[in-house]
Amino acid sequence: MRKTVRGTTTAALVCAAATLLTSVAAAAPAPGAPSVGDPYYPNAGNGGYDVSHYDIRLSYQPTTDVLSGTTTITATTTQELSRFNLDFGLKVSSVLVNNVAATFSANAAGDGELVVTPARPLAKGAQVTVVVAYNDRPSTVKINGFTSWVKTADGALAVNEPEIASWWYPSNDHPTDKATFDVSVEVPDSVVALSNGNLVRTTKNRTGWTRWWWRSTQPQATYLTSLEIGKFEVNRQTTPDAKPFITAYGADLGDSLGAAKASVERTPEINEFLATQFGPYPFEAQGGVVTTAIGFALENQTRPVYGARGFIGGSNASLVAHENAHQWFGDSVAVGRWSDIWLNEGFATYAQYLWSEHVGEGTAAELAQYVYDSKPADDPFWQVLPGDPGADRQFDAAVYDRGAAAVHALRSQVGDDKFFQILKTWQATKKGGTGRIEEFTALAERIAPGRPVRQLLKVWLYTPGKPFAGPNGPTPPRAAAVATAEPKSYKEIQRALANHAHDHK
Ligand SMILES: [Zn+2]
Repeated sequence: MRKTVRGTTTAALVCAAATLLTSVAAAAPAPGAPSVGDPYYPNAGNGGYDVSHYDIRLSYQPTTDVLSGTTTITATTTQELSRFNLDFGLKVSSVLVNNVAATFSANAAGDGELVVTPARPLAKGAQVTVVVAYNDRPSTVKINGFTSWVKTADGALAVNEPEIASWWYPSNDHPTDKATFDVSVEVPDSVVALSNGNLVRTTKNRTGWTRWWWRSTQPQATYLTSLEIGKFEVNRQTTPDAKPFITAYGADLGDSLGAAKASVERTPEINEFLATQFGPYPFEAQGGVVTTAIGFALENQTRPVYGARGFIGGSNASLVAHENAHQWFGDSVAVGRWSDIWLNEGFATYAQYLWSEHVGEGTAAELAQYVYDSKPADDPFWQVLPGDPGADRQFDAAVYDRGAAAVHALRSQVGDDKFFQILKTWQATKKGGTGRIEEFTALAERIAPGRPVRQLLKVWLYTPGKPFAGPNGPTPPRAAAVATAEPKSYKEIQRALANHAHDHK
């Protein structure tokens, strides 16, 4: 793109018919950018188009780890395109653009870029249909030397943050390009295939195989789209407000099964409480999947996925509160850039504090004060900046704990009424899209004029060192001031957070 502009300038200088040539050159098709330009993940996403829908139609054979089928992408171009990139690592057999074969280069540099050159350039603002056919063993595929796909004894899992899509479907892999999804996966009858949203139906097209068709009708980020294949106990219920509530428990949970169910089956109750704090639950379905195949939990849209180890120490409603709080903070309102991770983890952790107070354990004020008091000023904990932790420390404990204390510091500063008004307005105005910390700060300033909100968030999110004033203000209220004893729920919250650390590069 930049080269074309430079060429235009040169042409304008040397040619008498400068105006005419400039307009012709400016309209020339250019390659779409290979990235959205997120500094934390320089390869993530692409430029030149906006995806509205993914139709993922696959078959998976657990015995060989062979994944094959097609993904059909419906997109609109945002510039005239001579070629464009998708993020994908698997072997591609063909690419059609508007039903015409395109040339392509698939993961040639091992960086997960699928470069597609259509037979003819694409006009700006045009609807485009891209069909990518592929067949590969995802567990053998490395992108930038890294593997996200988890092969299990009886299936596989595609659950990770922030990079997982490229191991099972081609996409514009950045939260700024959300889309709706149909995920239809055929697997042997002995296992099930789980994903997000509603289970539209299961069908049997050939002997011994069942096709599971899932649909997400709300905008969904690519990394929050998941696939879990294996032996699971699947429970289909409805929430009190008549939404599908589908849970699944790995057949090998053993002793953890009871505690897992005692936690995840409470999801509708927990979401009902969270809705009183953040506003209406944003999606069309609820649920949860528990598996021994991963050691962390992730807030996959409508259906979080929990590593079974989160329930080894007993029931863990706090973990369920954390992952479901992300349905608002992270899923419905996704990060605009990955440096905005505080908007996800600070608030999901603070939701654990709110839940703790709701069930009569430690109050939010006590928990935030305990985090502050239990970390001495020289602890490296205070050197991590929740507002811009760096890609390597994106999931550092400080993003969660200092991040949650920062949320409470904001609450102390503006008072309960304005605090919950900020949260609910943020959700209502950003629903289905993305948000930046700067935008959140501006909203808080607008709702609480005259309060030093910007200065407070600067100290808590962007300044190394322990803030001089604690999360309950310079003089904490009496109950909070004596939080030198660990609040009852603190261990449970830490246990939940320990099971929320994601694998990432
Ligand atoms: Zn989280």
